[in-house]
Amino acid sequence: MVLYSPGRTSAYPDEPPVSGLRFHYLGGGDEVGNVGIVLEDAQGTRLLLDYGIAPTSPPRYPKEAPVVHDAVITHSHIDHLGMAPWLCAHHRTRLHGTIITSELSDMMWRDCYKVSSIERYPLAWDKRDIDTALDSWYVHDFGVPWTHHNWELTLHPAGHIPGAAMLHITTPETSVLLTGDFDTRDSSLVSGAQPVQADILFVEGTYGGRDHPPKQEEIDRFISSVEAIVKRGGTVLIPAFANGRTQDVVMMLHEYLPRLNVHVDGMGKRVAKTHLNHPQLLRDASALERAWRWAKQVSSKSDRKKALAADVIVTTSGMLEGGPALWYLNRLRHDQKNAIFFTGYQARDTGGRNLLETGTISIYGQQAHVSLDMEQFSFSTHAGHQEILNFAKACQAKHVVVYHTDPNHARPPLVEALVEQGHTVHEPKNGESYVIN
Ligand SMILES: [Zn+2]
Ligand SMILES: [Zn+2]
Repeated sequence: MVLYSPGRTSAYPDEPPVSGLRFHYLGGGDEVGNVGIVLEDAQGTRLLLDYGIAPTSPPRYPKEAPVVHDAVITHSHIDHLGMAPWLCAHHRTRLHGTIITSELSDMMWRDCYKVSSIERYPLAWDKRDIDTALDSWYVHDFGVPWTHHNWELTLHPAGHIPGAAMLHITTPETSVLLTGDFDTRDSSLVSGAQPVQADILFVEGTYGGRDHPPKQEEIDRFISSVEAIVKRGGTVLIPAFANGRTQDVVMMLHEYLPRLNVHVDGMGKRVAKTHLNHPQLLRDASALERAWRWAKQVSSKSDRKKALAADVIVTTSGMLEGGPALWYLNRLRHDQKNAIFFTGYQARDTGGRNLLETGTISIYGQQAHVSLDMEQFSFSTHAGHQEILNFAKACQAKHVVVYHTDPNHARPPLVEALVEQGHTVHEPKNGESYVIN
């Protein structure tokens, strides 16, 4: 099903702005994920940053993009690149990003297509559009600028996940930094983002108003909780997102609990292989390699049965929406010695959230009651409130645009703190155009 009629539903203005820099959120302005940002100057130089979907049920899509010949994709999460196949098929748009983002896009798009067919959700693009999109990639190294009409574009490491980039733009009049999803703190996989000087900063505000617990404390809590379950003879099931979290969790377990018997299953295995092909983009590639050789890879049905006797199983999907995690849960749920540890955000109406709130979950169409011990850990790789403030200050940004954020809870406290710090702050709404002069 095609949701858009190209060129007819786009509310984007026909003419370039009279002066200054215009920005227009197709999505992701006053919500988390679902990102699409059009930038344009008075000369008509136009660029799209990200074009994703929000993997909620049903998914949310950004508004229709106007004609854009070039789009920069910050990273390979589906809420930032899920709609790129539509873009390439309809507008022959060139996609710019890092090598890891381009290589992981194939897997992410195919998974998105598969999920939408299973769940019978309409998707705006077809399977063959994936091939068009894969042929549309232009890969860039960090720190190596390229020109886009009269703009100079450069990617910088964003932390978050391997290959994630911030985009720096120098126009004849101003300089701009767009963070994409970013974190200034190191994770097991990647080093934190460094500030880059810019007049206008577009910053993601997922964690506005909230500070993360100190990283080491959270790791210690996680490790001792895993140990306790293993000591009583149980297996810990860790549902984890394939792209970033699975690898981070396996690396932590390898570092702190090398004697445990850890099995890893799901799409995260292939993601790790892609990471390892680009060691220069990882914080410590040899640490990932060692962790990956240490953990037992589940690759067959008999492997899966064997994994049921493991100390820890790390697998997709991260929100218990499908994947091998449900297969394991269905078998592990009958023994009270076992436990489930969540390591990521559980969105509303997902299996994971329902399980946490009601103790029940739908497994293969059957409502199942699960009374295992459950714990949640915060291993987010988004900058927290204070990190965002420090970053904006270090970038010396005159203007700050806060997006990729909950407009009711997360954005107000962040905006207030940014204003106090002396920045002119903008709070974009989806579907509206703004000009900074
Ligand atoms: Zn995001
Ligand atoms: Zn992300």
